[in-house]
Amino acid sequence: MIIVGGTACVALVALLLPFATDAADTLPLLVALIYPLLDVALLLLVVGQTALRQRPFGRRTVTLFAAFVVLAIADGTLVASATSGSYQSGLLVELAWCLGFLLLADAACQPPAQQGGADTEPQGRPGAVPVIVAAAVALATLLPQQPTGIRLLVVAPAVVTLIAAGLRLVLALRQSQQLNEALRLSRTDDLTGLPNRRALNEAIAGQDSESGPGALLLLDLDGFKEINDTLGHAAGDAVLQALANRIGSLQQQALLVARLGGDEFAVLVTERDAVKLTEQALGLRDSIRKAIRVDGLEVCLDVSIGVAIGADHGTRASDLLRQADVAMYQAKAARAGVLVYDAERDDFSRERLRVAEELRRGIDDGEIVVWYQPKVDAQTGHPKGVEALVRWAHPTDGLLPPAAFLPAARRAGLMAALTRTVLARVVHDVTAWRAEGLVVSAAVNVSPAELLAPSVMADLFDMIHAAGLGAGALILEVTEDSFLADPQRAREVIEAIGRAGLEVAIDDYGTGFSSLSYLRDLPIQELKIDRSFVADILTNPRNEMIVTSTITLARGLGLRTVAEGVEDAAIAERLRDLGADVLQGYHFARPMPPVELRAWLADASAAAVTAR
Ligand code: C2E
Ligand code: MG
Ligand code: MG
Repeated sequence: MIIVGGTACVALVALLLPFATDAADTLPLLVALIYPLLDVALLLLVVGQTALRQRPFGRRTVTLFAAFVVLAIADGTLVASATSGSYQSGLLVELAWCLGFLLLADAACQPPAQQGGADTEPQGRPGAVPVIVAAAVALATLLPQQPTGIRLLVVAPAVVTLIAAGLRLVLALRQSQQLNEALRLSRTDDLTGLPNRRALNEAIAGQDSESGPGALLLLDLDGFKEINDTLGHAAGDAVLQALANRIGSLQQQALLVARLGGDEFAVLVTERDAVKLTEQALGLRDSIRKAIRVDGLEVCLDVSIGVAIGADHGTRASDLLRQADVAMYQAKAARAGVLVYDAERDDFSRERLRVAEELRRGIDDGEIVVWYQPKVDAQTGHPKGVEALVRWAHPTDGLLPPAAFLPAARRAGLMAALTRTVLARVVHDVTAWRAEGLVVSAAVNVSPAELLAPSVMADLFDMIHAAGLGAGALILEVTEDSFLADPQRAREVIEAIGRAGLEVAIDDYGTGFSSLSYLRDLPIQELKIDRSFVADILTNPRNEMIVTSTITLARGLGLRTVAEGVEDAAIAERLRDLGADVLQGYHFARPMPPVELRAWLADASAAAVTAR
């Protein structure tokens, strides 16, 4: 629109100028007054935007500022001459107009300065062409010696062009307002209105490089979960908002007060003295511990605060946050309230990071191996299958049991990769045994997060399909807490597992949040009675009662029972009498590598193992 209108204007001026005769024209004073007023308004807009940091202070802004100053002077001079009745612009004023419009065009053609990272660059930024055209048109309409005939013909497209240019400007302003709003929201926590983790990272990164980073206080509320659980989320939210106000108002001298999520807050300060920081943190803690009124109730919360002091100019946001996090956890564990990060005491965290890093490499390098422990039929002693148990063949520390690395894997987010590796190994081994004529089913342990993660199970189904494994070749051992977080999703997954021809066993039955409804409703085939009940069944009548009733319950529901941790013949005998279907434990066999298992299976298939 701007380009078409502008082209029409300039073309008409060029075509009709030679035929023009009438050179006299006047503008009403009122119209003349609008120009300097508009110039001043736009000038103030630029200054205001810059002051409010909505416009970066760069060459573009300076040029724009200069353009409006020049135009305001030129238009003001014209008004002054119009009031004195002459309405003669004069060469200086015309030169000033030219300069003003050239500066405007120059500002528009410069790339916008970056403000707050790449994501703030306006999209659909108008190109230089419409701006130059609009400037040319404005100049064309102001040409002093235009005859009236030409003026009339040029004015229509010129007005349309300028209106279009004005609309484009309004649109651009609106877009920039929307962008600013989006930018603000992306750095704000919805619930408390405080800056969020992203804003904190930027604030740490943007700290004065001369003075170096200050310090970070990381606050984690103690006992907030109980409030959420007992009073509900609305009350929990109200508590967080009240505390956000309290922390915010107390820390007015802080560089930034942010909510990092959940019940975690952070305060970024310039202070670097450990003693003063500790005093500041203790003061903060005292005020947080004061009672808060929610729903007519007074609730009191404690807080643990970790303080990390920026070591040098190169301290990264992630380092400062991690150190404050370590100090906060140590403060929580020691119930110390406030602790300043001390690299000397960071061994635990460093050890944790080292194990996680090594495990990541170990998974990639194929150091994860699977051992198998046989399960036998309680009545006949014949092998009934095996349980796959993960081991880490560590290059220097030897063969590590799951307890040595599963917690680190969980914390480092490596469980999905580990589970996939184990599943692939088990599918491979079972396929190989079946090809040799050893019909054996393998049980694999799957923790709740991986059971509910759609991709891990989907990958397993693909593996089984590719290997051509039939129904019953694999049993997935899941724990009762799998059904706690998201029962609906758990139900869908268990049903999908059934459709894929796999069985499901409840592992360590009796140790978790037992609920009879999932036993009744879900397609589960097996209950594994935890070894803590089995181990002293002969000496502890209460445990014997639990095992007996579990076997009865399982039988009533059509489920198979497996007793874990059978360590001697007497326990095996008792379980057999009580009616357990399958037994597993050191009495029959310890977990062993796949090669040994093949031999064991061949032996055991030939002779019942009850005599062992
Ligand atoms: P679990 O699934 O209950 O596995 C049985 C554990 O009991 C195994 O320990 C096994 O070696 C041990 N055990 C078997 N019979 C006896 C016995 O007669 N006496 C005693 N004292 N212990 C016995 P392990 O291999 O150390 O595994 C420990 C746990 O680690 C497993 O408990 C399981 O929860 C977990 N786990 C093992 N492999 C995996 C895996 O691949 N993925 C996941 N998510 N967890 C696994
Ligand atoms: Mg198990
Ligand atoms: Mg178990």
